[in-house]
This record gives sequence, C-alpha cells and structure tokens, in this order.
Amino acid sequence: MTTPWGFPDFDAHEELQFVTDDACGLRAIIAVHSTHLGPAAGGARFWHYAKPEDALTDALRLSRGMSYKNAMAGLPLGGGKSVILADEGRTKTPDLLHAFGKAVDHLGGRYVTAEDVGMSVADMIEIARNTKYVAGLPAEGKDVGGDPGPHTSLGVFLGIKAAVKHALGKDSVAGLHIALQGAGSVATGVALHAAAEGAMLSIADVDQAKAQKLAEAANGTVVAADEILTLEADVLSPCALGAIFTEQSIATLRVPIIAGGANNQLATPEDGQRLHQRGILYAPDYVTNSGGIINVCTEYLGDGDASLVRQRIEGIPDRLEQVWSESKATGRDPAAVADAMAQKLIGRG
Ligand code: NAD
Repeated sequence: MTTPWGFPDFDAHEELQFVTDDACGLRAIIAVHSTHLGPAAGGARFWHYAKPEDALTDALRLSRGMSYKNAMAGLPLGGGKSVILADEGRTKTPDLLHAFGKAVDHLGGRYVTAEDVGMSVADMIEIARNTKYVAGLPAEGKDVGGDPGPHTSLGVFLGIKAAVKHALGKDSVAGLHIALQGAGSVATGVALHAAAEGAMLSIADVDQAKAQKLAEAANGTVVAADEILTLEADVLSPCALGAIFTEQSIATLRVPIIAGGANNQLATPEDGQRLHQRGILYAPDYVTNSGGIINVCTEYLGDGDASLVRQRIEGIPDRLEQVWSESKATGRDPAAVADAMAQKLIGRG
C-alpha cells in the first residue's frame, strides 16, 4: 500500500486532511505544506480527476508551490492548497461548499482558502458561511478583495515585460508576438495588457469560443490548442494548466522566452534544466503568478490598500531579475535557483 508519505511529491507536508461527507457528496483534500512564515494560504481547486491519486498529487504539488510562491513574494504566509474532487458532471451544490467550509474551519486557521480553477467569488461566499478562514470575497466598499485573477494577470504581464527586457533588451512588448495558451481569467488580463501596449497575440484554448472571444477583444489571432506550444513567437505565455513542459514538448519549442501564469508548468525539475540548455529564458511560474495571492493576502490580513497591492505586484520583475542574475552567476537553471531561494525562506534550505 502506498501511504501519502511515499508519494513523490509529499515533501514533508505538515498536514494532510482527507474530507468525506456522503450526505452532500464532498470528497476533498486539504494540504498544508508549510506554516513556517504564517498560515498556509492557497486556493481551492474544483476539478474532475480520472483517479483519486491524481487529486492527491495535484494537491501536494500545488501546496508546495504555494509555500514557494508566498515566500518569494515576501508575504507573511505559509503554503497550502485544497482540491475538491468533482464528479463527472461537475456538480457543485451549496451544501457541498458549506461542508468544505466546515472542513477548512476545522483546521483553525492553519489553512486559508480562496479561488482556484473551477471556483468563483460566489463559491467563496458560500464557503464563508462556515468559516472565516477564506479570502477572495467581494470587496464591497473595501479597497481590496474579490477575484484574484486580474491581479495575477497584471503580475504575469509585468513578468513578461521583465523577461523581454532581460532577454531581448526591450522596454516594451510593442510589436512583439506573444503566444498565449489559455483564454480564461488570467489569460484574458494578460492579453488585454499586452494588446494595449501593442503586442501581437496568438491565442489558443481547448474551448474555441473562449479563444475567439478573447482574440476579438485583444485584436489577436486564434490558434489550435495543439499548435500553440510549437508556434514561433517572441514569448510563450502558458496560462492554462500545468505540466506542459516535458522532454518532448521542450524539444519543439520555438520561442526565446517563457513567462506565464499557469501553476507547475514544468513536468519535472529536469525540464527546467532542459529549457536552460536550449537557451530559453524561463520565468519561474510561482514567482511570476503571485499577483493574485498578493491581493488575497492583503485582503485577509487587512494590512493595506489597493496601492500596497499594486506596489507588491510591481516587485515581481525585481524578484525575477534576482533569480536570473543568480542563474547567470551559478549556471543553474532559473527554476532550480528559485526553488533553492524559496526553500531557504521557509526554513528548509
Ligand atoms: P480559468 O479556468 O479561468 O482558465 C483556464 C483556461 O485554460 C480555460 O479557458 C480552459 O479551457 C483552458 N485550457 C485548459 N486546458 C487547455 C489546453 N490544453 N490548451 C489550451 N487551453 C486550455 O483559470 P485561470 O484562473 O485563468 O487560471 C489559469 C492558470 O493560472 C491555472 O494553472 C491556475 O492554477 C493559474 N493561476 C491562477 C491564478 C488566479 O488568480 N486565477 C493565480 C495563480 C495561478
């Protein structure tokens, strides 16, 4: 029998809670990777997994990623994440969300939840009926709160600009070709920021209608979902799901820069080295996509206003530059450099 400790991604998680509530059909996993820097914060993902093991792997990898993300963003938060195992019809009822809220509450604040893929602001309101350990609630007259997506998009766009400056010596994305994977919440903001600065966009989503809608709004071109990773462009911005960079996909990339919002873009740590060996500048995902959690953190802790959120997000390019300059100095790939920096910050270096 494989125990959670035997899972390749277990990585000394502090706490792992398996939640079952037959009355409402809830099956969820709450993973707390580290509370070294503060309460473990990270969103709840609502997703249909082919096998429960896939849900556990996802929770563990995403949760460790949150520890690294929060640490690198300089936030007083640890890292955690939860996944709710959706049925094939993705049935999401208020009862299910209330039961999930109860489970979050049970952890007494060691885990704070928010939106992730498949969850909305309305879902957070339901969850908040049973726990106060939730963020991403409507701002309602307050300066900070609501959907973290637009803040993530701003950070990703600034990350793209930082990479363009570093690799191509340009101060703007005007006239550059950006290949965007995904046309969801994060991708939409990235596309609109980039289009406003004069970039040319190629956009792909498995949902063609979404890709079409975004292409119209950002004056871009729709590309088939299975072509976006091999497109010749100045920047590839992955803003869909993770594990897209593998030995096979890296061999066929035709871009000098990768900077996007998707979590866990590298299938394995070796893929970070593979990108480096191919001379492709990689902006580590959790450094680049921290805008949303920066907003969530400021909302949850109530320690600042929208201008502080913006200031914290504007720190993303400097943090990326630190990673790339250490990568240059040591010859290690940027993903490995970022991991080592983050591990040190959470007391595991
Ligand atoms: P979303 O659900 O709004 O959008 C994701 C989009 O990706 C969907 O339109 C989906 O159809 C598309 N997609 C899925 N597989 C695809 C494929 N193979 N090719 C092309 N498109 C595909 O989600 P989101 O909130 O925009 O998040 C996108 C990514 O960014 C996720 O990895 C998420 O974990 C990460 N992220 C999001 C936030 C946030 O604030 N929303 C913060 C940090 C990281």
